Amino acid sequence: MAPADPRPDPGVLHGLGVGGRAVAGRVACMADRPAEPEHGARPDGPPEREAGRAAGALEAVAAELRRRAALARDQLGQPEAADVLEAQALMAQDPELAERIDALTGVGLTAERAIFDAFGEYRAALAGAGGYLAERVGDLDDIAARAIAVASGVPMPGVPDRADPFILVARDLAPADTALLDLDKVLALVTEEGGPTSHTAILARARGIPAVVGVAGARTLADGTPVLVDAAAGTVTPNPTEEALTELAERAQRAVHSQTATGPCRTADGVPIALLANIGGPSDVDKAVKAGAEGVGLFRTEFLYLGSATPPTFETQVEAYKAVLDGFPGKRVVARTLDAGADKPLPFLPLGHEPNPALGVRGLRAFRGEHQHLLDTQLRALAAAAEQSEAQLWVMAPMVADASDAKWFADRARAHGLTRVGVMIEVPAAALGAHAVLDAVDFASLGTNDLAQYTLAADRMLGALGALQDPWHPAVLKLIELTGIAGKATGKPVGVCGEAAADPKLAPVLVGLGVTSLSMAPAAIPEVRAALAEHTLARCQELAAEALSR
Ligand code: PEP
Ligand code: MG
Repeated sequence: MAPADPRPDPGVLHGLGVGGRAVAGRVACMADRPAEPEHGARPDGPPEREAGRAAGALEAVAAELRRRAALARDQLGQPEAADVLEAQALMAQDPELAERIDALTGVGLTAERAIFDAFGEYRAALAGAGGYLAERVGDLDDIAARAIAVASGVPMPGVPDRADPFILVARDLAPADTALLDLDKVLALVTEEGGPTSHTAILARARGIPAVVGVAGARTLADGTPVLVDAAAGTVTPNPTEEALTELAERAQRAVHSQTATGPCRTADGVPIALLANIGGPSDVDKAVKAGAEGVGLFRTEFLYLGSATPPTFETQVEAYKAVLDGFPGKRVVARTLDAGADKPLPFLPLGHEPNPALGVRGLRAFRGEHQHLLDTQLRALAAAAEQSEAQLWVMAPMVADASDAKWFADRARAHGLTRVGVMIEVPAAALGAHAVLDAVDFASLGTNDLAQYTLAADRMLGALGALQDPWHPAVLKLIELTGIAGKATGKPVGVCGEAAADPKLAPVLVGLGVTSLSMAPAAIPEVRAALAEHTLARCQELAAEALSR
């Protein structure tokens, strides 16, 4: 018999996996925006027919936006996103726009071109107004693209609507798209762009959707193609064999078994390591509690407001924070103050255009100036929510660079009566100066996603640099070790809340480097618990030494 062909199957597409699951299903492609309608095209019919086509397209878009808003509000518990979608539906039916489109079809333009030009004029006016209005041009572009697609008879851009569950294939997804995905329909995500720690990937992990990102050629997969998406291997296999599908079913069975161990996490020699959950809001609490999380190690508060056109009020914040805290009576809940900027723009916080957003005004930096009052309102709301609940609220700031940042934040938080105040260590300077940083606060949590990005100078959004987004890199591990040593010296706890904490092979290494808690997507907790139970602390330290010397 001829030996097996050692070459990789050319049909298999490769990328970076998010999560450990594998699923099979049929591809549904997310349609791109349609091209600009031809300028000089003459319509086939009379102007009234073009005006009618344009009005019909905008009506269809408004109806679709209202349908998505209802889904967001009633089924997905995303009221802020619903508000944005409803506002967009109103924009689609703006009477002035309709009048302008009528006028343009009246002078001989096609429905598509009239929509394009009328929205273009409106867009220019909004952009020129600056500030909040200028922030809305993205919404207008989205409506125009949808209406032109409907008028041209091609699929609307955005997540497709299918009767049966599907594998969503896209160039990339905005965090707001990912947050709104219907989990009964979307089995897995495959994107051409994005790295393993992009916020799209994080949201996918948080929502338990397996994903493979940074897959070159993903969009060559035709709609309806059967594929097997293996997040653990980072592969997408078109037309999988029966054998591969059987193996997939067996794997799912094994995963069910590993979910059965429960209780607080201990190393083999009984050292407690708190396993906490990463969550984005009240709708994630149940999942975290069911997975056996011993509390919350990262509550990404900005995820609640990714679609908010106006700053959340004190009252809405208290309500949301209390809903999270009430899920964990007597336990730790680490809330991170708003981490805005770069790939997580908050619509109500205009930060302006920056050439290098990852190195720009983001995280805590966005609030050390004219927007400080927003941080103060948030801290006040967190303190009020904690007062009304039995959870232990810990509060930390993102993107802290040094001890002066840490002290500034600690002073503000304590002034609002917050007693457990910490910082994220995700900038290499903060890790190098961890002793001084920890002197100013009560705890630290390592954000290994950004720490890897900044240590290796590799944008976490770029699929092409995904391999450099590596928390196993000895340089990243060295910075984690320095922070662990500083934690021990100052007697302050140091955790990890980046995606590294969810890797069952890396978890013992992190513990060996001095980390005392690990926070991750709830779905990862059982496997990490099982992995730590296999190693003594001394063995974890040996594994850490080995990993550092690679
Ligand atoms: C991190 O950077 O590791 C982190 C946990 O924060 P985020 O992923 O939200 O930037
Ligand atoms: Mg971060």
